Amino acid sequence: MLTSFRELLDERRAAGAAAGAFTCYDVTTALGVVQAAEARTAPVMFLVAEASLRRPSGRLLLPALLAVADAARVPVCVQLDHVTDDALIDEALAGGIGAVMADGSKLPAVDNVSFVASVRRRSGVAGVEAELGHIEGGEDVAAATEAGALTDPRAAGAFVAATGCDCLAVSIGNVHGRYAAPPQLDWERLAAIRDQVKIPLSLHGASGLPDTDVRHAIALGVCKVNVNTELRERYLVELEAGLPAARDGLKLLDLEAGVVDAVAAVVAAKLDVLE
Ligand SMILES: [Zn+2]
Repeated sequence: MLTSFRELLDERRAAGAAAGAFTCYDVTTALGVVQAAEARTAPVMFLVAEASLRRPSGRLLLPALLAVADAARVPVCVQLDHVTDDALIDEALAGGIGAVMADGSKLPAVDNVSFVASVRRRSGVAGVEAELGHIEGGEDVAAATEAGALTDPRAAGAFVAATGCDCLAVSIGNVHGRYAAPPQLDWERLAAIRDQVKIPLSLHGASGLPDTDVRHAIALGVCKVNVNTELRERYLVELEAGLPAARDGLKLLDLEAGVVDAVAAVVAAKLDVLE
């Protein structure tokens, strides 16, 4: 069932858990996410990449994901991930998206504040997530990446107050895509941010983080964990493995079922860590 961003995060925080947020480039991935979430009775989020919405078929993907989310037997929120384009944000809001990740992290600090505050004003009941500091790496490619500018705990409280954002993405040594070196998350920094900020925190770039790190982050205030790279890896491995048998007899349903199961296995393993 479609559930609001704030409601979903508040429930997770009260449970001492985090919501898994999974990038869905297609409906097949969303089916795998729901399969795992229903088996675990866990709420989840579908993340929609900006690149997906910019494709010619993008206007059709959002309503499809919203329909899957609504039909699911667990709470689901659909969020537009990392976006800076106001027109695209407004289009997604008009299309009924449940949340927006208003990513002004590459802008000068003052512009990040005004951008997020403006999105918050326009978003109504939809949730707004912002980013302070900068999480390096592309969301849609998986190059090895070093950590970017870390979130300044002293700036975090004022940033949240000035923007009115509902969730803050922290940069504490986490990156998008593949880690160039074993990740070293800055726990003191995360604890200091948590002390300055009342709203739920999110951790991006969870693919490649040890489970113990993810659990520690949740204990320090993280209520949302974004996963993308691992899903795509398993999706493609399964697609390749299932293709010869499927081609023989044009068994498209079997091929898709294999991919759905593979995605669900990755999601289920993540959800077990987030509980
Ligand atoms: Zn991200």
